[in-house]
Order: sequence, then C-alpha cells, then structure tokens
Amino acid sequence: MIHNVVILGSGIAGLTAAVYAARANLHPLVISGYEEGGQLTLTTDVENFPGFENGIGGTELVQQARKQAERFGTTFKFDRVMDIEHGDVHTLQLESGDTVQAHSIIVATGASARWLNIASEEKFKGRGVTTCATCDGAFYKGKEVIVIGGGDSAMEEATFLTKFATKVTIVHRRDEFRASKIMQDRALNHEKIDVLWNKEVIEITGDNFVDGVMLKDTVTGEETPFSCQGVFLAIGHIPNTFFLKHVSKDDHGYILTDRYMHTNVDGLFAAGDVQDTRYRQAITAAGSGCAAALEVEHYLVGKGIE
Ligand code: NAP
Repeated sequence: MIHNVVILGSGIAGLTAAVYAARANLHPLVISGYEEGGQLTLTTDVENFPGFENGIGGTELVQQARKQAERFGTTFKFDRVMDIEHGDVHTLQLESGDTVQAHSIIVATGASARWLNIASEEKFKGRGVTTCATCDGAFYKGKEVIVIGGGDSAMEEATFLTKFATKVTIVHRRDEFRASKIMQDRALNHEKIDVLWNKEVIEITGDNFVDGVMLKDTVTGEETPFSCQGVFLAIGHIPNTFFLKHVSKDDHGYILTDRYMHTNVDGLFAAGDVQDTRYRQAITAAGSGCAAALEVEHYLVGKGIE
C-alpha cells in the first residue's frame, strides 16, 4: 500500500496537519514518534492559544487534537523513522523494522531538549538533573533547585517550581534574559526566585544524588560552588532531523522550507518547530501544519493522485 501522505510527529504541528489531511480525505498515517504529543505535553497551562479564555493544559490540547484527527480518519502508529529513501514514492524505514511507502511526507518531528553536555550531567540524569519541571517538579518538595537558562522556558519552569521548592535560583550565562517581559516579570517578582547572572554550570556534584554545582563566572572566570538538590535545564532545543540525509538544513539542523512549507525534496514538506527558528509557538506550529497539509493536497492533485 502506498499512503497519500505520512505525517512524522504527533505534536500540535503534526496533529493539525493530520486534521486537515484527513478532512481532505487523504487518510493520513501519523508516525507518532516516542514523545507522543510533543513538547506541549511537557508544559503546564497554555495561555496564549486563541480560543481558551482561561488557558488549556498542554497535554489536554494535544489529546483533543489527536481525537479530532482520528474522528476524520487519521491512523496512528507508535514508531520512529530512521531513514527515508526518496523517489517518486518515498520509502520510510521505521525503528520497528517495518517499511512504509508514501506519495508525500510532512515532517513535524519537532525538537528535543538540549543538554549541557558535561560529564557529570550524564551521571545525575534522573537523579537530580532533568529537563522537565512539569514532569519532575513534585519530587523537589522542600528542596532548593536551580534552573539554567534565560528564555521563556526557564522563566516558566522557575515559576512552576516555586510550588514545590523552597528556593529557586535561575542561573544565566549573560546579564540579561531573552525571555518575554511578562514572563521575566513573573519570575523576577517572585519571592522564592533569585537570579545568578553571568554564570555557567561547569560541573554537577554529589554522591548518589545532586548536592550542588560548580559555577564559573562568564566575565571574571571565577569558580564557586553552589548548593542545590535539583538542576533543571531550560536551555533550548535541538531539531529532530537526524534521519533526513537529503533534505537541506541550516547549521543547527533545522529544515529549510520555503514560505509554503516545501523542502528541497519533491513531495516532502515540513511544519512546526523542526523548521521554525523564529516563532516556535504552539499556534505557529499548528498554522504551519495546516499550511503543509493544504500544500500536500495541491501536490497530490498536481501528480494526479487522489
Ligand atoms: P530559547 O529561547 O532558545 O532560550 C534558551 C536559553 O538557554 C537562552 O537564554 C540561552 O542563553 C540559554 N542557553 C542555551 N545554551 C546554553 C548552554 N549551553 N548553557 C547555558 N545556557 C544556555 O529556548 P526556550 O526558552 O526553550 O524557548 C523556545 C521558544 O519557545 C521561544 O520562542 C519561547 O518564546 C517559546 N516558549 C514560550 C512559552 C510561553 O509563551 N508560554 C514557554 C516556553 C517557551 P542566551 O540567552 O545567552 O543565548
């Protein structure tokens, strides 16, 4: 069987593409990836997605979108793409060993959390070092934690962690945040949140569990120990594009698309964070998923494929 369209990724971009493709009667297949629902499942309330006056939980939003896609005839497969052979028909190799064929593909595989890549980080993964406050915050009740980063995620995670931790310290490598003003203010005005400016974490210390970090001042080079029981990383993301060998990407691995979501490979489109280095919002991801599905529709009609 050759699918009309296979959508890679089940975050809000992939799910929106699925809703549109399914409503166009294309019977899309979604290869969900292992992080089903994508990054929104790692966030708390989404307050800026239009239509929800009081916000909506990130997980609830993607669950609803998935049900909506299923209602119109989308099929889901829990698997991961490892390689694609391009041609008139694309052949996708999945991690399960299965092979899938498709006339067109929408890549919406998103991005995954960036790590510091220091040796001690590996040792303490899951034992005091994490990239997800929503998932792990509750384990830090009554403890002191640090959040590394200066973007919206760091502000959001730090603010969220005040529900559990006695003290939250944001460690940022520069002397100003890149986060939006409203999220900065929320964090900076919180009585439980402190900021250490111009500092990077060069080592994580502890026996079995984290008991502190070694900080290096990015201006003076001075090194100082800092006591904490939890290290939350909020230092951005890396696009999930390792399986794309022939698709043009930028220096950071993000897929290059034109304004119509086309890539350099015929029949292969991209949507969401995997191709967005500028906005990276739930609503822009959804919008680009919609656009990609509409482009697929045009593409298949142009090829004479119903
Ligand atoms: P981001 O905006 O890329 O910020 C990453 C932060 O981590 C930056 O402050 C960066 O420092 C720092 N950083 C990067 N690599 C580092 C390293 N190796 N060591 C130490 N620090 C490092 O990522 P994000 O905060 O995850 O946000 C991504 C996108 O999602 C943004 O568009 C954001 O607006 C959006 N977002 C929105 C919401 C919301 O509206 N509710 C919530 C979360 C995220 P520099 O500043 O020095 O580069």
